[in-house]
Amino acid sequence: MQKFSGLSLFAKAFSSHKGWEPQWRSPEPKAAYDVVIVGAGGHGLATAYYLAKEHGITNVAVIEKGWLGGGNTGRNTTIIRSNYLFEESAALYDHAVKLWEGLSRDLNYNVMYSPRGVLMLAHNVHDVQSFKRHVHANRIAGVDNEWLSAEECKAFCPPLNIAPGMRYPVLGGALQRRGGTARHDAVAWGYARAASARGVDIIQNCEVTAIRRGPDGAVQGVETSRGFIGAPKIGVVAAGNTSVVMAMAGVRMPLESYPLQALVSEPIKPVFPCVVMSNTIHAYISQSDKGELVIGAGTDAYTSYTQRGGLHIATHTLDAICELFPQFRRMRMLRNWGGIVDVTPDRSPILAKTPVAGLYVNCGWGTGGFKATPGSGNVFAHTIARDEPHPINAPFTIERFRDGVLIDEAAAAAVAH
Ligand SMILES: Cc1cc2nc3c(=O)[nH]c(=O)nc-3n(C[C@H](O)[C@H](O)[C@H](O)COP(=O)(O)OP(=O)(O)OC[C@H]3O[C@@H](n4cnc5c(N)ncnc54)[C@H](O)[C@@H]3O)c2cc1C
Repeated sequence: MQKFSGLSLFAKAFSSHKGWEPQWRSPEPKAAYDVVIVGAGGHGLATAYYLAKEHGITNVAVIEKGWLGGGNTGRNTTIIRSNYLFEESAALYDHAVKLWEGLSRDLNYNVMYSPRGVLMLAHNVHDVQSFKRHVHANRIAGVDNEWLSAEECKAFCPPLNIAPGMRYPVLGGALQRRGGTARHDAVAWGYARAASARGVDIIQNCEVTAIRRGPDGAVQGVETSRGFIGAPKIGVVAAGNTSVVMAMAGVRMPLESYPLQALVSEPIKPVFPCVVMSNTIHAYISQSDKGELVIGAGTDAYTSYTQRGGLHIATHTLDAICELFPQFRRMRMLRNWGGIVDVTPDRSPILAKTPVAGLYVNCGWGTGGFKATPGSGNVFAHTIARDEPHPINAPFTIERFRDGVLIDEAAAAAVAH
């Protein structure tokens, strides 16, 4: 693998950027692998990387129907935080934050992790009570989260409007200083490059169309648009399409799929120092390194597989953004897009073995799985390699919806970015 360093960048800059090698291999699929991962998003690629790095399993294929990172990984607003209410969730997401902190060095690829702080605004008494509860629960669990008054929110994020009498008054906020953003494309590319260097085959433009099971019910491999590929272990990491892929093995998932959308403004000079989220309004905003304001909206109210959202959802979000940050009122929006998110009844993910031998599933991240990418891949690789969950993902089973052992972040937050 071509190593990146300050010196190599400098040398390439002075030789007209000639001689850069492809960052990952694009091999023809082999007849069989030890493990097949369906879906080359961040989670699938991270799973393959940790299978190779931490478990020595390198005979792995990641099969992607489009191009790698072209699903939700390349469509999200990149908010990273771990201040979830329940201990199970905080442990999972904080495992990811700890990996984010060293990820660029681990992958030798700059994923631009930027812990600039995530501020979650409270607009009513319920928000205040709920966020203070989160702050206390997080502190007990050893996860950083602090309560700020409205004035302290303004000091942390100067463009914020805290004038009284607004439709969405700011009563305070919960701040996680280790929260922030990372560059989504770089995360996919960094994991792809590092996994490929360890022997993982990344097969793009190859759709999984069926999952073949043997007489004993165990998986035997996947039918794809490029032929059959055998594997005794299959990990489905196909956010947005999980129900469709799992149905190929006869497994019905407790998921609903919704469009979720985002948009960016024209680029401007740095004015926005942090990430601000408002769960009540369902608007969130940060500024990218290119200068664009990156704005996230809510899910549509109905299930769909169209990768676009309703216009009224975006305009509602922009109304709220304009009230919270009046100086952005005259800005023009450049692009909007959508992705399909798989949502579980308790708004927590499923990272687990399934009733089918050799079949594993990583899904249900809803509107907030980007932040979990390294931690999710790390514990899912463990689950596949050892055929048993890592202690961190042990609670995130499919069976919890049968047994009632929910991790109810839905009731806790109503949003999970
Ligand atoms: C608009 C938007 C904003 C978001 N904002 C945030 C945020 O701020 N913070 C946050 O933490 N999360 C956010 N999310 C959620 C986050 O993007 C996802 O949870 C996360 O990226 C899921 O990653 P993944 O690798 O599981 O899925 P994906 O990146 O979607 O990868 C799944 C892949 O599977 C492939 N696939 C599907 N079916 C098949 C098949 N049959 N054969 C082969 N391949 C297949 C798809 O093509 C896709 O590339 C947002 C999502 C959206 C849409």
